[in-house]
Amino acid sequence: SVTLGLETSCDETGVGIVADGILLGQALASSMDEHIRYGGVVPEVAARAHLESVNSVLRQALTNADLSLDQVDAIAVTSGPGLASSLHVGVSAAKAWALALGKPLYAVHHVAGHVAADTLEHGPLPERSIALIVSGGHSSLLMLKDLATDPIVHLGDTLDDAAGEAFDKVARLLELPYPGGPSIQRAAESGDPTAVDLPRPLLGKVSERHRYAFSFSGLKSAVARHVQLARRTGAPMRAEDVASSFQEAVVDVLVTKAVAACRDHGIDTLLIVGGVAANARLRAVAETRCGAAGITLRVPAPRLCTDNGAMIAAVGDLIVRSGAKPSGLDFGADSSAPLDRSLLV
Ligand code: ATP
Ligand code: MG
Ligand code: FE
Repeated sequence: SVTLGLETSCDETGVGIVADGILLGQALASSMDEHIRYGGVVPEVAARAHLESVNSVLRQALTNADLSLDQVDAIAVTSGPGLASSLHVGVSAAKAWALALGKPLYAVHHVAGHVAADTLEHGPLPERSIALIVSGGHSSLLMLKDLATDPIVHLGDTLDDAAGEAFDKVARLLELPYPGGPSIQRAAESGDPTAVDLPRPLLGKVSERHRYAFSFSGLKSAVARHVQLARRTGAPMRAEDVASSFQEAVVDVLVTKAVAACRDHGIDTLLIVGGVAANARLRAVAETRCGAAGITLRVPAPRLCTDNGAMIAAVGDLIVRSGAKPSGLDFGADSSAPLDRSLLV
């Protein structure tokens, strides 16, 4: 069966089409350029952009998949979490399509989509796996069984900022362009990762309760203090070195905790998903350390890590094939939907 997925939770309008775990086609539009001068996503601007592009992105995805709309069997849409005004546009559009076509509609969790994206590249998930989700709004270690039907178990979450948020804030401190993640990565390439001595928050001796928890706001503050001190005293400071040292600290914490979670639970598959999983240094360090620990590492291609429609089609396809009951048409957007299951309604 053919499932169409629609993603509009932030500034990307994405449509993907998946059949039995295979990506048939997708299309993506982004309002990123309109937000650059504000240094962050402006909800009102993002919502309007979704409204203007949603139908052309749908047509483009169908063209790329070489399908017509009546060949779609089910529709999945991100109903949360995300920016309320952005989510509303996608939920409304998906309801209209489902109603017009007489097809079942499924309200899905955006982050479950980030996880499912990996199945498009690496096939079905094993019986049990650990997922490190690192994105603009989330930093969690999850224990997964069947993504479509089983509850998602949180081993740990961030106590404050998400990893992507930290990249974005540190980029701003260093006056690197928005979005921060790719800017930091680029700057770090010509920097020295040992130049600035930065903390590894919640690593080493921590209480059991924080074994799999993250904290990135202190790290951001440490960078801020370093930058301020250098500016005040006129001490030499290369943004490249600060970016590289920051990136190294984040990557070290993320990979160390993810590998520990796998070891502790006797699970030999680790997924790293979400926008920050596009980070080249994170991918390289995870590859090395998982290799040494005998853990199979699964990270989707960078363009499947950041927001897209294919990931929503992927999680929708898993849910449809599980035989779950559709969500109907009487649901709304839930901007702070908790991540405890893939199907929200
Ligand atoms: P969420 O998925 O939690 O709702 P989101 O959808 O806004 O949040 P994503 O699109 O999954 O987030 O990821 C965007 C984040 O990923 C941004 O914070 C961005 O800076 C970060 N990011 C993107 N590419 C990279 C990279 N190469 N290195 C580090 N961070 C990156
Ligand atoms: Mg985005
Ligand atoms: Fe996302």
